[in-house]
Amino acid sequence: MKTAGNPDCLFCKIASGEIPSESVYSDELVYAFKDIDPKAPVHILVIPKEHIVSAAEISPENSKVISRIFEVIAHLSKELGLDRGFRVVTNCGGEGGQTVYHLHFHLMAGRPMKWPPG
Ligand code: 5GP
Ligand code: ZN
Repeated sequence: MKTAGNPDCLFCKIASGEIPSESVYSDELVYAFKDIDPKAPVHILVIPKEHIVSAAEISPENSKVISRIFEVIAHLSKELGLDRGFRVVTNCGGEGGQTVYHLHFHLMAGRPMKWPPG
């Protein structure tokens, strides 16, 4: 199993199980877990197990996991009954609001979402 790539990375440690989390999905490429500080009734983080810093670092060499991540999101949306809708967000870089520098997609649902986001 491909896990940690960066020994100082919080989400690498979560993906490998070194730091505990509330798991909702795991396969050889992808891990999904509940956000520790939820901003919606459903707030899940979906991450590649491989260390990718952000959306700015997606390339032909590492992008296979991105399609898997969206397959997982579709699977979770059905499993969790998110038929009223949901939002998928990835924050990238400082002005994008990224605080953890391991690529992650926020899957949020359970309340009406505003547009545009702040
Ligand atoms: P960002 O701000 O980088 O887009 O999102 C980082 C997210 O990670 C935040 O929503 C934050 O609540 C979540 N987070 C930070 N540390 C932890 C942690 O140790 N465990 C879990 N489950 N979520 C975390
Ligand atoms: Zn990482």
